[in-house]
Amino acid sequence: MKIIILGGGPTGLGAAWRLAELGHESWSLYEKNDFWGGLSASFQDDKGFWWDIGGHVLFSHYSYFDQIIENLFDLDNGWELHKREAWIWMQNRFIPYPLQNNIHQLPKEIYWECLQGIIELKKHDEVKPAHFEEWIAKTFGTGLAKWFLNPYNFKVWAYPLKKMAWSWVGERVAPVDLKDILHDAVFAEKSDLWGPNATFRFPRHGGTGAIWRAMAGKLPSRNLHLNKQLSELDPEKHKITFTDGSSQEYDVLLSTIPLTQLLDYTNPELAALGKSALCCSGTHIVGMGLTGRTADKLADKCWLYFPEDNCPFYRVTVFSNYSPNNVPDIAKQWSLMCEVSESPYKKVDSKNVVDDVIKGLLNTGIIESRGNISHTWHHYIKKGYPTPSLGRDEALFPVLDNLEKKNIYSRGRFGAWRYEVGNMDHSFMQGVESVNALLAAGEELTLWYPQIVNNLHPSGRKR
Ligand SMILES: Cc1cc2nc3c(=O)[nH]c(=O)nc-3n(C[C@H](O)[C@H](O)[C@H](O)COP(=O)(O)OP(=O)(O)OC[C@H]3O[C@@H](n4cnc5c(N)ncnc54)[C@H](O)[C@@H]3O)c2cc1C
Repeated sequence: MKIIILGGGPTGLGAAWRLAELGHESWSLYEKNDFWGGLSASFQDDKGFWWDIGGHVLFSHYSYFDQIIENLFDLDNGWELHKREAWIWMQNRFIPYPLQNNIHQLPKEIYWECLQGIIELKKHDEVKPAHFEEWIAKTFGTGLAKWFLNPYNFKVWAYPLKKMAWSWVGERVAPVDLKDILHDAVFAEKSDLWGPNATFRFPRHGGTGAIWRAMAGKLPSRNLHLNKQLSELDPEKHKITFTDGSSQEYDVLLSTIPLTQLLDYTNPELAALGKSALCCSGTHIVGMGLTGRTADKLADKCWLYFPEDNCPFYRVTVFSNYSPNNVPDIAKQWSLMCEVSESPYKKVDSKNVVDDVIKGLLNTGIIESRGNISHTWHHYIKKGYPTPSLGRDEALFPVLDNLEKKNIYSRGRFGAWRYEVGNMDHSFMQGVESVNALLAAGEELTLWYPQIVNNLHPSGRKR
């Protein structure tokens, strides 16, 4: 079976890794860029600062993935280990994430409004929410929805919450428990350990992209091809052509490029169906190179969330805290990485976005003055977040099935368009599991059963 993999991000590299591990010889991977990692790549700017494409935090639901990651680097090159210090900046104060567990730190009137909303939640509500916004209100109450969850989610998704589904949520949003909330309020405790990424690791050198560069470096180089961009696909003849005019035939095509792009090459009907239902938002990544020592209030923080409208970003990562090597000289420099979402529902003035971000950093007091900014870095990706929109699955599943009938398997963050299994570990495992399924070595749990892979066994064991 000759397998061709399109795309050298985590999904494509996961598939390649598994093929090599199983000793399957007939495969090739083609990537359009001159680097590995896709959306998980990292870049060093001309001042020597490293940047990711948005704050990437590596955590995993899979022991198989953990073992591979564990052995990727030699010890010197290794990892920085972190306890998550995620905070929300609102009402002129830092509140530990998740906000819903720490509402007692809000001003009294807002705390009361949030509590009231939680108290009024119906215990046995049989009526399923019609959309994400309704799900938020039914799960967290109207106070939390008004003050944090609605504005914050619109800022992240850039998509009306009424047009979004909620079935994807699973472990992504911390639930509320009135008893725990009141306990923490009475004893003035900080509750910040919720969730699968309470601890995480980060490459000591070279940003998140170092993971994927190292992985590609361990694969047989004869099978890997950079600078190869798909330009045509003939599903009937099982043939792909690249922009340089060369072509290849395949038995199975494992595509990790955006599904909407792939559909352009299949048939117009499918393309229309897919495109009408598959939505996404773009992301501006604005890096701030700063001189001096990291501001004291940020010295122990990993990332910050911003629900209010006094700044354009929804999240800021204190990137030099992830690794001192993300800046050339940590004694004299530090860095922030800010993310701004964009869509037809949330327009961004691209030309001025860097300046708007700086104004936002000043408004929120994250930086004191422009004087400390040594330089900025701006990177825009048109496809940042695959939106879990209403109607997505109804369109997606027939499209994926239809492609499979033609021996084309579309997998990965935008290959399969399922945000709930669109992180790096999920994507890598989508690649691994698709190979398992093709070579009769296992099934594709991640893509088809997100609720299983995203739930740890009660003992804490990973899959
Ligand atoms: C802002 C942001 C923050 C994120 N934060 C996290 C996080 O904290 N933790 C986490 O685990 N994940 C995070 N992610 C998700 C992570 O980036 C993805 O899980 C991962 O990169 C998806 O891998 P993939 O291989 O499916 O897709 P991609 O990374 O998109 O790779 C697809 C590859 O296909 C190539 N390609 C496209 N078109 C063609 C063509 N025509 N011919 C040849 N090649 C082509 C692309 O160049 C690319 O290399 C984040 C993503 C974003 C955007």
